[in-house]
Amino acid sequence: MIIDCHGHYTTAPAQLEGWRAEQVAGKAVGVPKISDDELRESLEKAQLKLQRERGADLTIFSPRASKMEHHVGNEQVSQDWTRVCNDIIHRIVELYPKNFVGVCQLPQSPGISPANCIEELERCVNELGFIGCNLNPDPSGGYWGAPPLTDKFWYPFYEKMVELDVPAMVHVTGSCNPCFHATGAHYINADTTAFMQFIQGNLFKDFPTLKMVIPHGGGAVPYHWGRYRGLAQDMKKPLLTEHLLNNVFFDTCVYHQPGIDLLFKVIPLKNILFGSEMVGAVRGIDPETGNFYDDTKIYVDNLGLTPEQLNAVYDGNIRHVYPRISQHIAKHA
Ligand SMILES: [Zn+2]
Repeated sequence: MIIDCHGHYTTAPAQLEGWRAEQVAGKAVGVPKISDDELRESLEKAQLKLQRERGADLTIFSPRASKMEHHVGNEQVSQDWTRVCNDIIHRIVELYPKNFVGVCQLPQSPGISPANCIEELERCVNELGFIGCNLNPDPSGGYWGAPPLTDKFWYPFYEKMVELDVPAMVHVTGSCNPCFHATGAHYINADTTAFMQFIQGNLFKDFPTLKMVIPHGGGAVPYHWGRYRGLAQDMKKPLLTEHLLNNVFFDTCVYHQPGIDLLFKVIPLKNILFGSEMVGAVRGIDPETGNFYDDTKIYVDNLGLTPEQLNAVYDGNIRHVYPRISQHIAKHA
């Protein structure tokens, strides 16, 4: 089976954005009016078409990351928007249970304890059948006001993750800081920052079964692996293989062959999960190859891995990180 661990609902009908604009203006009532047919149409010509063409079976699917916008409005605004977005993902999974499985947005808000996200996580996992969450290390949207991910500030939420046996993808949302382009800078900065925070702390000593996925190939981390190993050594931390690599995983959302080659050369295979983030950050065709930049399966297939290794990246590693996925797959086989 080929599982894509990283997809967002980036192609929602305009009513969703319309509802959001009204919500931000303080005028939204009820929920966005989107029919099942409209949901189907938005997916059939995009994510589902690309799944078929590229040969993926199941996508771990969450709301559009850049529009989670935890920095917009107060906590109640974030709570209401999050619920709306997660409910739409749930409807999509109900329509296409073989193609999608849900991962939730969290109702984070600047300065608010992540403990306030527990109720929504429980609802999504226990009632909606979701298998993980997106955790934003910077709910300020580019100004970095929250404590590092290793701080006790986050611990009540991690306790619930461990109890429910769900991982988090460390994923920022849009940037309201003009210095940081959202997908080109803010995302990659956050991936790199999260990894360095994990090095500096001792989070996985406190939570040995907690699992974090750092998307976009781990940001700058694989390229600078020597720097991170050296910094950990200077800080008298254990080897990164013991300190982090039982708990931290990277996806393959790197949009060229040399980047994927490097990722697999540097990071142990057991820590790499197939992902594409389609339809997402980069939607064009690479003139050098004639392929879509985000058709990451081509790069992985080009690596010359054994069938066992490919199966780990496409399936086994993902089931290890998202244990609840096997239940979903069995139920809808
Ligand atoms: Zn993403």
